[in-house]
Amino acid sequence: MAEIEECIFCKVAHGKLPAYILYKDDFVVAFHDINPQAPVHVLVVPTRHISDLEAAAEQEPEIVGRMFQVAAKVAGDLNVAKNGYRLVLNNGVGAGQIVPHLHLHVMSGRRFGWPPG
Ligand code: 5GP
Ligand code: ZN
Repeated sequence: MAEIEECIFCKVAHGKLPAYILYKDDFVVAFHDINPQAPVHVLVVPTRHISDLEAAAEQEPEIVGRMFQVAAKVAGDLNVAKNGYRLVLNNGVGAGQIVPHLHLHVMSGRRFGWPPG
C-alpha cells in the first residue's frame, strides 16, 4: 500500500499536511513531533504506508534499517548524538501506538527514566 488517504503520516510524507521536515528521501521522512515530549522529539517514518513492524517485516524489511540510519543522521544533525538519545517504537495499540503508520521516535535533551513509563 503506497498511501492511505486518511493516514496523517502518509499526508506528511506526501506534502499534504504541513510538518517541520528535517530529512526526506524517496523512502523515509523525518519531522518534528507536533506534541514534543522532550526538547528534541523527531519522528522517522517510511514514505510508503506500513502499519507496524509486522507489516514492515512482511512487505519491506529493509526500511527498518533505513529508519534507524536516518534516526542516527538526525541525531547527528541536531548535535545530540554525543549526549545520547532515546529511540522509541510503540508497536501496536497495547504499547501506545496511536498513529497506525510505523514510526520511530528520536528523543533527546532531557534525562530519561528506565524502565520507561
Ligand atoms: P505513537 O503514540 O503512535 O507512537 O506516536 C504518535 C506521535 O505522533 C505522537 O507523539 C504525536 O504527538 C505525533 N503526532 C500526531 N499527529 C501529528 C501531526 O499531525 N503532526 C506531527 N508532526 N506529529 C503528530
Ligand atoms: Zn500512512
